[in-house]
Amino acid sequence: MRDGGMRDGSVLHRIPHPVSRIPHLCISQLPTSPRAAIVPRMPPGSGLSPNLQHLETSATIAISQEAKRRKAAGEDVIDLGAGEPDFPTPSIPSDAGVRAIREGKTHYPANEGILELRAAGAKHLSLLSGGRAVNADHIVVSNGSKQSLFNVCFALFGPGDVVAIPAPAWVSYPQIVYLCRARPVLVPGDPEWSLKVSVRDLDRVVPGAKGLVLCSPCNPTGAVYTHAEIKAIAQWARDRKVWVVADEIYRRIHYGTGPAPSFLDLPDELLERVVVIYGVSKAYAMTGWRIGLALALGGAGGALAKAMAALQSHTTTGANHPAQVAAAAALGDDRVEQDVGRMVAEFRKRRDLVVSRFRQDLPGVEFVEPLGAFYFFFRVDSFGGIGGTEFCTRLITTTGVALVPGAAFGDDRYVRLSYAAATDSLQKALDRIIGFAKKLAD
Ligand code: PMP
Repeated sequence: MRDGGMRDGSVLHRIPHPVSRIPHLCISQLPTSPRAAIVPRMPPGSGLSPNLQHLETSATIAISQEAKRRKAAGEDVIDLGAGEPDFPTPSIPSDAGVRAIREGKTHYPANEGILELRAAGAKHLSLLSGGRAVNADHIVVSNGSKQSLFNVCFALFGPGDVVAIPAPAWVSYPQIVYLCRARPVLVPGDPEWSLKVSVRDLDRVVPGAKGLVLCSPCNPTGAVYTHAEIKAIAQWARDRKVWVVADEIYRRIHYGTGPAPSFLDLPDELLERVVVIYGVSKAYAMTGWRIGLALALGGAGGALAKAMAALQSHTTTGANHPAQVAAAAALGDDRVEQDVGRMVAEFRKRRDLVVSRFRQDLPGVEFVEPLGAFYFFFRVDSFGGIGGTEFCTRLITTTGVALVPGAAFGDDRYVRLSYAAATDSLQKALDRIIGFAKKLAD
C-alpha cells in the first residue's frame, strides 16, 4: 500500500514498460484552459454568450466524423476512435423497445424516468453491490449518461467553484464544468500507477475543490480504481465536504472478478455527497438509445434528485419513452446478463490481443494496462519525439487508422485506441499502427 492506504498494492496496475520520464504537462497550472484546443474555440466578437466561452466540439466525436467522411469518400479507414461497442443491442431490450412503440408508449414519459426503469436500475445496482439498499426515488433517468453528468454538475456547481478532474480525463468533463461557469482543474495521474490519482495528489492540486469527477473504469486509460482506493477517496471527500460525481458507466466492463469496484460498495456514512452515474450505452451496446441514470446518495439525495429532475423538466422533459422501456429490460431481465458476459469476454480477448501485440512488437512503449472499459492508452513521444496530435494526423493520412490524440484527454504524450471493434479490423489496424510506429522510431 502507498499513500496512507490509498493505493492497493496490486502489480497488475503498474505500467509494464516504463520508458524515460518526461516532465509532466502542467495541466493543473492552466486553470482556464485545461487542455490543448483540438477544435477552434468560439471566435471573440461572435455574439455568442460567455456561457460558451470555453466550448469546443467533442474531439472524439470530431474524429469519428472525420473517419466516416473518409470512409464515405471511398478510403480504406479503420475507426478505432469511437467509444462505442460494435455489437448489436441484445434482442431482449431491442424487442422491448419495439413493443413499447407498438403499445403506444410514444407520449411524454414521466420526466424523472418511468418507474419501471428506475426500479430496474435500483435493483440492478443493488445486486452489483451485494444487495445494498438503493432507492429508486433517488434515480433520475436522462438522455444518456452525458446528460446525467450535465444535470448533476449544473445542479451542484456554479461560478467560483473548483471541480477536480483526474487526468487524463474524458473530453466532456471539463466542458460540462465550464458550462456550469465553474472551474475544472485537471489533476495529473501518476504514470507509475496507471495514471490514477491519490488523495495526496488531490490535496496538493485542489485543496479547496467543491467537487470531484472520478471515472472508473476509466476512459481513456482503462485503469480501474481498487476498492481500497475508492474508499480512501470517499473518506477524503467526506472529510473535506467535496461532492463526488462517480462516473461508473463502464462498471460492467471489467476484466477482474465481478463488476468493477464501486462507491456503492462503501458504507452509507461515506456516501453523503456522492452521485453515481450509470447507463446502458456501453455494457449493453445501447449507445443510440440514449439512456443514462444518476443516483444521488446520502441524506440530501432525494432533494438533489428532485433538483435534477426539475432542471431537465425545462430542457428535455425526460428521456425517449420507448428507449426507457428498452433500458428497463436491459437492466431488469436476467437473461441480458448473458449477453453482457459474452460481450465482455470478447472485449477481454481483444484487450489481450492489443496488449500482447504491443509487448511483442513495440517493446519499451509505455501504456496503461487496461483492467476495464475498452480503451488502450499508449505513449507516442518515444517515436521520434512527436505528440499524439501529430501521430494521429499522420497515422490516419498514411494508414487510414483513426485514433484519438491524448490532447483530447489532457495529455498529448499519449494516444487512445478503442478496441471496441471487430477482431479482424483490430488485427489489421494493429499491423498498420505497429508498422507506422516502427518507421517513425527508425
Ligand atoms: N462517461 C464516459 C466516461 C464515457 O466514455 C461516455 C461515452 N463516451 C459517457 C459518460 C456518456 O455515455 P452516454 O451518454 O452514451 O451514456
